Amino acid sequence: MFLEPKCHAGSIEVISGSMFSGKTEELIRRLRRAQIAGLRTAIFKPSTDTRYSATAVVSHDKHSIQSTVVAKSTDILALAGDAQVIGIDEAQFFDNDLTSVCRTLAFRGVRVIAAGLDMDYLGRPFGPMGSMMCIADDVTKVHAVCTRCGSLAQFSHRLSADDNLVSLGEKNTYEPLCRECYSKISNVKELLNESCGCN
Ligand code: ZN
Repeated sequence: MFLEPKCHAGSIEVISGSMFSGKTEELIRRLRRAQIAGLRTAIFKPSTDTRYSATAVVSHDKHSIQSTVVAKSTDILALAGDAQVIGIDEAQFFDNDLTSVCRTLAFRGVRVIAAGLDMDYLGRPFGPMGSMMCIADDVTKVHAVCTRCGSLAQFSHRLSADDNLVSLGEKNTYEPLCRECYSKISNVKELLNESCGCN
């Protein structure tokens, strides 16, 4: 169980996992607790995430919290104001400046909590998430449930033929799978060759 930092010094927390792993629910939980503690909060998400609402961070179970949609990560610095705790949802869709933005905020004394997919549907590190995990004070990996065997799932298998990485997860588009079930997908060898670039 993650415990909130004791002091109000800056920090970076990353919440990552597959589709349907509860990343946004955990982000909302931490932000609500910060609000209960009387801290000033702000939440940002990238403009590429338009599912359900353009103005709220929404999780699959319909819990939501108001957010600001921004086009690029440096907009977060410009709009952070006097927030003491800043949440970032769908962090995988931000540009690579996100790490320097979060470091700048943390050194200013802001607690940054970023949630995002760790891997794309091919199992590759997604956008800035790998670097975000490196610079984070704390990383929480959350897991979905494999829809085929019930084990813990860390892969987001795409059910549609669409190869657009920006497509977002609805239940009819992705299924969370464990490594064993993911490895049984007929084209997994192709995916692995594409992922590592070797042989
Ligand atoms: Zn499985």
